Order: sequence, then structure tokens, then C-alpha cells
Amino acid sequence: MRKRVGEVPLLFLVGAVALGLVAFAWAIEAGSSEAQQGVLHNCPQAGKWALAVWDGADGTDAEQAFATCEGVSVAAAYSIDPGTQQWSRWFAGRPEPDMSNLRTLDNMQGVMALGSLGAPTPSVPGLSLFWGDLHGHTSYSDAEGLPSEYFAKCRENGVDFCALTDHAEQLNAAEWEDIQEQADASLEEGAFVSFAGFEWSSLVYGHKVAYFPDRIPGPCKNNDPECDSPEKLYQFLAENDGLSHAAHPCGAPPAGTDWTRFDATYQPNMEYCGDDRPFALGYRVGLLDASDTHTVNPGGGNLTACWAESLTRKGILDALRNRRCYAVYTLGGPGSFRPTVDFTVDGQPMGSEFSRPANSEVTATVSVTGQVQVEDVELVMNGVVIGASDCEGGCTYSLAISVSEDSYVYPRLLARSAPDQPLQQLAWVSPVWVNVE
Ligand SMILES: [Zn+2]
Ligand SMILES: [Zn+2]
Repeated sequence: MRKRVGEVPLLFLVGAVALGLVAFAWAIEAGSSEAQQGVLHNCPQAGKWALAVWDGADGTDAEQAFATCEGVSVAAAYSIDPGTQQWSRWFAGRPEPDMSNLRTLDNMQGVMALGSLGAPTPSVPGLSLFWGDLHGHTSYSDAEGLPSEYFAKCRENGVDFCALTDHAEQLNAAEWEDIQEQADASLEEGAFVSFAGFEWSSLVYGHKVAYFPDRIPGPCKNNDPECDSPEKLYQFLAENDGLSHAAHPCGAPPAGTDWTRFDATYQPNMEYCGDDRPFALGYRVGLLDASDTHTVNPGGGNLTACWAESLTRKGILDALRNRRCYAVYTLGGPGSFRPTVDFTVDGQPMGSEFSRPANSEVTATVSVTGQVQVEDVELVMNGVVIGASDCEGGCTYSLAISVSEDSYVYPRLLARSAPDQPLQQLAWVSPVWVNVE
């Protein structure tokens, strides 16, 4: 007689799941004060199963309940009826009753949920993608609105981090205090990160936008003899754990940037403005972009995407310091274009540098998901397009490259704002630099 090997483990699993759900639901009821808002607790990670519990109204549509998971979409879910011991099931995009017979969730109902593999696994394990805007103004310098409105609007625009960067030279002590106070009051690490910062606005060297993890005594003003050169600004950043990036750097000062005063440690990135000149000159600078809003609309224009360990001030600053970021323009509407892009050369992530013997072959790989409007991806090496791929709706594209001199390689994405509009570049990723030994 054949042994029925499957039965005991399955019964055990069902029992364990049921017990786990009871314990988990009890823990939530005992500790949660947010039950009214409706949230799925313990959402799964991409490609993994998790025991999740719906914490919200009885009879909530299953799809709506699963959509409360942030940063992951649920691909499939199973739930067992404690009375009948019957399992019901749900599959994303398959609403037919014979496919998905788990239609609604009741408060404290447990489900086994599977996270969708929609987004690429980041090339550095443990990183997540966050969106932000690191440059904008209020009425404290030359724009509209107040710092409190600025951070509220940033959050409303659905981005993860924002810096308020009024022109340092126009700020008085009370205004600087208020900027820092509002940044601290808006900070909710894990959910939203707000930075107090300023724009060091030199007509001689160009504008630099600075931001800080903690409160600092006052902004560094380019019309103050203590702070009137890029090197003095970098020293100020060193003393206060701050970072800066080059604002609107295209061309020469007063509008553009004097690249001879570059510092990779304290000004590791620049707003991308369609110009590879700093790369051609040998400056190793990462790419980001920002709205430079003057109408209290941070997060509503061009954006920065960063791969960070955590949505904290420290996490975002670490990502910026390591140039694990890319620049994205708007498409069709404010903040509407948010492709997920991962990029490596020989496994090293965007923003990194490494060495190989002359004429070695390296492999560049770019993965794009999350934005159906993407049509093509191009790889640029030392100012020349060396490869391109159709990337409609997302792709993974790899190219073997022979490296004969110190080189930079970066991908850019092409899309259309509408079907009848021309194809245009809309995202640029921080390069990887390969040194030849
Ligand atoms: Zn400026
Ligand atoms: Zn500005």
C-alpha cells in the first residue's frame, strides 16, 4: 500500500497557519490604534509568501485591501474559512469567479499573500527605491509659500523625500529657525523624509544646493567672507555632515557651474541638464534632478530616484553620497514618469567605480520596470551611444563592452509624452566608472 506522504505536512501547515493567524490578529487588535484606516499588515516581499492580516472594514474588496501594501503588489493570496476549513483564492488581474473566489476581506481576516516579482531585485541586496525632490524655494527667498506648506505639498505630491533650499543669502535667523523647525516637524522616518537646506547662490562659481541630517547653526552664505568659495562651502558641509549637488549646472557661471572647483565628496551629484561636459572633463559626478519649484510644488516636477537602505535622512544621504540615484523628467504631467531602473557593470551598482586590466570585457546590465511608456533604453559610453534596445513596457538589457581606457557608462530611457509626440530622453542614470589598470 502506498503511503499518503502529502497529507500530514499539509494538515500541519494548515494548523500552523490557523494558529499563527489567531496569534497575529490578537497582537494587532491589542496594539493597533489605526484599525479604522484600513491596512494590510505584514505585506509580502517581492517573490515571497507572507502571513498577512486585513485590519479594516468588514467586506472590503480584496483588490482594494491588497492595494494598501506599499512598495509591493500582491500577486496571489489564499485564505481559509475557520468554520468550513475551505480555502479561497485570489490572483491579480484574474477577477473571474472561477479563478478568484476570494472577493472580500473582513476585519482581522488572515491571508497567505505572495508578493509580485514586478520590480527588479536591486543589484545591492537590501536597497529600496525612493523618489524625491531636493531643490525648491518659498517666500523666505524669491518664491511663494511658507516652509510648512512646502513640506505638506511635497508629501501630497506622493514623493518620499524633499529638501527645502531657499537662497541662503536671503535668509535671516528667524527664517532659518523656522525652516529647520518645519523640516523636523514634517519628518516621519520610514514614511516621509524632510531636509532643511539652502541654495548657496554664487554668481562666480554657480549655485549649489545643500542639505543636512541635523540642525545646524545657520546657512553658509556666499556673500559672507567665511563662506565665499566652494572650498569654504565644502568645509562647512564637512563640519555639519551635509552634502550638496550642483544646481542647473549647464554652461558657465553665473547660471552654470565652474567645474574646476568640483569636490566628489561634498558635491557628488548634479542636476542633469542634457550636458555630458563634466564627464568628458573627467569629473565623476552622479545624476539627479529636481523641480527648483518657486510655486510651492515640490515633488511636482522633475525628480530624483535613489536606491537607499532606509527611508531616513541618513539612508537618503548615504544613497546620494554613493551616487546610487538617477534623474527623471516629467512625462505628460507633474511627477508622472517614475520608472524603476537598476543598472550595474560587472555587478557594481550605478555610481560605483572599479578597476580592470586594459582591454578587459565588462558586462553592463540595465533593468527597467514599472512604466509602460518606456520605449527604448540606450547605453552611453564616453559620450557615444554604444548600444540600444527596444524596452517597450520594461526590459532587461545586457551588453558586453571592451574597456581600453578609463571609461564611464550610463543608461538613459526614451519615451513619448503621448502617442503622437516624438520619442525623447526622459531618464538618465548615474554612471559606473571603470578604471584601466
Ligand atoms: Zn539656482
Ligand atoms: Zn533654486
